[in-house]
Amino acid sequence: MSMGTQPAPPPPPSGQPPAAYPPPPPGYPPPPPPGYPPSGYPPPPPGYPPPPPGYPPPPGYPPPPGYGPPPAAYPAPYPGIIQPCPSCGQNAGTGIACQYCNQLIGLPVGVRLATPGRRLGGYLLDALFLLVTLFIGWLIWSLIVWKDGLTPGKQVVGMRVIKWETGRRAGWGAMALREFVAKVLVMGLISLVTFGIGPLVLDFMLLWDSRRQQLWDKIAGTLVVYDPRGQV
Ligand SMILES: [Zn+2]
Repeated sequence: MSMGTQPAPPPPPSGQPPAAYPPPPPGYPPPPPPGYPPSGYPPPPPGYPPPPPGYPPPPGYPPPPGYGPPPAAYPAPYPGIIQPCPSCGQNAGTGIACQYCNQLIGLPVGVRLATPGRRLGGYLLDALFLLVTLFIGWLIWSLIVWKDGLTPGKQVVGMRVIKWETGRRAGWGAMALREFVAKVLVMGLISLVTFGIGPLVLDFMLLWDSRRQQLWDKIAGTLVVYDPRGQV
């Protein structure tokens, strides 16, 4: 018996939505935020790049004028360096003069920083000459010898005033500044405003000053040396 042809399968029921669209495969990872370096990339080197070789250092500013010690014309000893004294041969020390014989470093052998005792002798002689010449003789003598860095009293005891900056004898202008402006006018003003107390201390400044300078030496930039043979 013949079964005949089998009927076609019924169409799928209408109205059913087609198969659902498959969900997308697992997405790509989100893009890295901008600026983030990829892994494994070395970080940039810290700090500023080194200057190219041969770059000159910036020049230093020169010290402003009027500050600091004045330049010495003669070589100053370096601190800590043993410097043999040209006069006595011992370690001169670190000051401007030999610590043993007062030889001034850089000046002719025999020129020494004057001692306080000799300075006192000079003051006393000047006072004596001033009195016995009724001031006028001492004044004329002074005006004549100032050009060589002398006062009458210093001349007698072999002392001379020199300029600290140059190591050479003080001239008339420096002596006028030292003997009149500083010693008379400035000290007179100091005495006035301190009721006479100031000079009682300042007159002894050379005792604790390493260069044996008085206030008038500081003002005039001078040193007092023992120069009996006139080598300066
Ligand atoms: Zn010495």
